[in-house]
Amino acid sequence: MSRALVLNATYEPLCVVPTRRAMVLVLQSKAELLSGTGRVYHASRFSFPEPSVVRLAHFVRVPHQAHVALNRRAIFARDGHRCQYCGAQAENIDHIVPRSKGGQHTWENVVAACKRCNARKRDHLLEDSGMRLRRPPSAPKGRQWALVALGAVLPDWEPYLGLRGHVVQIGTADGSLSLAAQATPLSA
Ligand SMILES: [Zn+2]
Repeated sequence: MSRALVLNATYEPLCVVPTRRAMVLVLQSKAELLSGTGRVYHASRFSFPEPSVVRLAHFVRVPHQAHVALNRRAIFARDGHRCQYCGAQAENIDHIVPRSKGGQHTWENVVAACKRCNARKRDHLLEDSGMRLRRPPSAPKGRQWALVALGAVLPDWEPYLGLRGHVVQIGTADGSLSLAAQATPLSA
């Protein structure tokens, strides 16, 4: 199914919806068409350019409970696929406070790590390992969470997303995509 990127009135990326839904938003004057797919949708009484990017007419506040699903793909995207200890290409997920020592599986306690650092740290606490984090990890917010949740990205969405190369490689999102859709009260 074709999908369209929905931007808030402020041009902030909000979510991805089926193009048909984006088209309804435009027809109801709830959104303006910014970019089309090049295809034309034909109905009995009218034809309409199929939307690829639309912008909401009115600002929508994104609810606080719009969490990004914590999964391997999202963690790698947040950390730029780099080991958060040494900067090398990341291959593993490391729990900063090891699970064996009561560490939680939360955004603040997981980082992408290379095989070497992951093996070196093992089940040590950070302060006992002699290793340092490049920056404290946190849950993705705002534009960043939208990017992580988007899944596959179409080329004409990129200018609105401020994309870095690695984000484009994210496959179609699973749980996080549905969470992104939940965050957007478009059903009214
Ligand atoms: Zn490393």
